Amino acid sequence: MGLTRYGAGLEEIEALLASWGEKGYRARQLWDGLYRRRAPLEELTDLGKGLRDRLATALPLELAPCTGTTADKGATTKWLWSATAGNPGVRGVPGVEVETVLMHYRDRATVCVSSQAGCAMGCTFCATGQAGFERHLTAGEIVEQVARAQHASRSRVSNVVFMGMGEPLANFDATWAAVLRLHHHLGISARHLTVSTVGVVPGIRRLAEQTLPVTLAVSLHAPDDKLRDELVPLNRRYPLDEVLAAAGEYLDRSGRRLSFEYAMIDGVNDSPAQAGALARRLAGMGAHVNLIPLNPTPGFGVPASPPERIARFADRLRAGGVNATVRRNRGTSIDAACGQLRARHRHAPATMVGATREE
Ligand code: SAH
Ligand code: SF4
Repeated sequence: MGLTRYGAGLEEIEALLASWGEKGYRARQLWDGLYRRRAPLEELTDLGKGLRDRLATALPLELAPCTGTTADKGATTKWLWSATAGNPGVRGVPGVEVETVLMHYRDRATVCVSSQAGCAMGCTFCATGQAGFERHLTAGEIVEQVARAQHASRSRVSNVVFMGMGEPLANFDATWAAVLRLHHHLGISARHLTVSTVGVVPGIRRLAEQTLPVTLAVSLHAPDDKLRDELVPLNRRYPLDEVLAAAGEYLDRSGRRLSFEYAMIDGVNDSPAQAGALARRLAGMGAHVNLIPLNPTPGFGVPASPPERIARFADRLRAGGVNATVRRNRGTSIDAACGQLRARHRHAPATMVGATREE
């Protein structure tokens, strides 16, 4: 595989420019432009047009936009990309489709990246899980998602969450290489880098061995193994006790407060008794639970819990000593949830997805 815009390291860029007979400082200039200034190549006018054109070909982008839609009065933008793994010129080899979401909040801008095209974990309520696994993304493809979102963003991207398509800890090496690039070069702090996992226990342990203490989010969705086995098939391999023990080790090693994700599914996992059971399991971990109203998917016929039930669930968790917040659904009108934009795109390939309805 050849070099790519956001896959290439500084040394590779230095070697490339040296082989063209360019002056030594040019590589640093390019690197600073791409990462410190966070600018697209065509805006790096200090490099000169001829050199930029040559670089555009030698360091191709890996993501071609299929669709880009906005919602929430412009505060949420979602892209569906065709990812080419550095082979944009190969005819007849279609790229895989992946999603990225940019969310502006009052005090920050967050990018949600995909780590894989598809996912092998098969969570029953998840559009990506329903469609199955295609391939791992490369570190360059992950970093490029953040860079491209930054180019379109009205403010500086301060947070990156690995909560798009795929299971990041099942693609550990590329995920971690991307994390390091985002931290060391794009300047995103470790606390503001969140890796979300469905509970890949060996991956959580490996994460705990790294020196950069990123934030860990674990997707739970059920307070007991019986229900979790149904919703999250990986639970049969790594049951709740093991997942929580690994998360506890991560907390000890990193000192970072843990986050738990819990999709609220009507009549399935949202009773006060289940909230009580969850609170007992998480007691003493100092964790934070994000309650996410389920985004309905075609392959899972159950709706989201009604808001009042979610509020009661949150109250019950708090009464049990566990911090809880309800996550506002962002970009529901543009299917801005894991795998959903792609699912819609596939079913209606000829139409522009998600009218830019603002809510
Ligand atoms: N594979 C990782 C990260 C990507 S999924 C993980 O599962 O944690 C990111 C989050 O979106 C997870 O918490 C996942 O459970 C949640 N999610 C997936 N499908 C959803 C849906 N239909 N509605 C609400 N949340 C969903
Ligand atoms: Fe994969 Fe996460 Fe979806 Fe489960 S919820 S299928 S782990 S992307």
